[in-house]
Amino acid sequence: MRYAFAKRVRHLQSSAVRDILKVVSKGNVISFAGGLPDDDLFPLDGVREAFEKTFETGKKPLQYIETEGYMPLREILVDRMAIKGIDTYTPESLLLTTGSQQAIDLFSRVMFNPGDVILTENPTYLAALQVFESYEANVIPVESDEFGMIEEDLEHKIRKYKPKCIYVVPTFSNPAGKVWSMERRNLLVSLAHKYHVMIFEDDPYGDLQFHSNETYTPIAALDDGTHVLYTSTFSKTVVPALRTGWIAGPHQIIRIMSQAKQANDLHSNSLSQQALFHLCQNFDLDAHINNLITVYRSRMEIMLEELEKAKLPGLTYVVPKGGMFFWIELDEKMNTGDLLNVAVKNGVAYVPGAPFYVGKKVQQNAMRLNFTHSTPDKIKKGMGILTSVIKEQYTKV
Ligand code: PMP
Repeated sequence: MRYAFAKRVRHLQSSAVRDILKVVSKGNVISFAGGLPDDDLFPLDGVREAFEKTFETGKKPLQYIETEGYMPLREILVDRMAIKGIDTYTPESLLLTTGSQQAIDLFSRVMFNPGDVILTENPTYLAALQVFESYEANVIPVESDEFGMIEEDLEHKIRKYKPKCIYVVPTFSNPAGKVWSMERRNLLVSLAHKYHVMIFEDDPYGDLQFHSNETYTPIAALDDGTHVLYTSTFSKTVVPALRTGWIAGPHQIIRIMSQAKQANDLHSNSLSQQALFHLCQNFDLDAHINNLITVYRSRMEIMLEELEKAKLPGLTYVVPKGGMFFWIELDEKMNTGDLLNVAVKNGVAYVPGAPFYVGKKVQQNAMRLNFTHSTPDKIKKGMGILTSVIKEQYTKV
């Protein structure tokens, strides 16, 4: 039987990251590939107690709820966002989703006709690209440097392409691990207002900030509630398995997204939402996040030390100020896609940079390294293997 799929599925591809994870999970490979938090740091007791608390009220938590999600959790999230300066949204303009991934999907579903333009950083989050492409949006990359999108190219492309939206991960980005400067954040908001373009701010990593003395105001906090949609998630700070994220934004957009959600899954896992409400009430989430920061920062420093020690030819990187990823660029003649097989055979995995790029400017010499999922010993061992493999390959190309 030849199955007659819809045209749009020709854009669907398995993610390069998931494919690597599948290979790696079978063998005895040290993996810097996935964007995984450390299992050992999961707040197991906190989550267990939160579910116990959920069931104290009997069977009620097992019923269908409203599409927008469990109201008491939405209220808590509005309060938590206000602490970061995002104070223009009400619980009514906040939708709980099955991870922030679903927020990206629902937004795209209600916004993009085939061919509509979305501007992104380059490189950018791979699974967002998959969503945009699945709705046949036209993704156009904007030149970026270490501080964010570059003003001239951004304004030029807004004028030229009249995009519907600009998608950004401005705080400890995936994959590049960088942080936008305040100047670039303000600039983005002012251009969005000037040209009437929506900004989609994806912020799963913002809480994992390594230097408490620095301030990275969310882009949503610089707006008046009209031009920015802000999404975040419990995946990186609590556990990914609860599949709970949220999106806040202008009420009209959230309302339409909520209608699209009814067609998609009615509402996300409300048991998770209720448990997360109890977790936020009874467990010291901020102390837990501080602990994650301490551990992850020290792992990043170990990875940095190993990188510096290895003195790789032509190496460039920006030291991550938070989040989960190191983005490194090797000498221009290196191809990290080709190198991956050799690395995996030797016992270490990473994600090559190429799949994160949009358009023609693809850097074959880049790679993304996750530093949160491996223990310090594994980071040292894995980086030892990886840097030797890189050096050996360098002499051959
Ligand atoms: N956005 C970015 C930038 C991410 O890195 C991730 C997780 N890899 C997500 C969204 C989705 O996270 P979740 O669906 O688990 O909330």
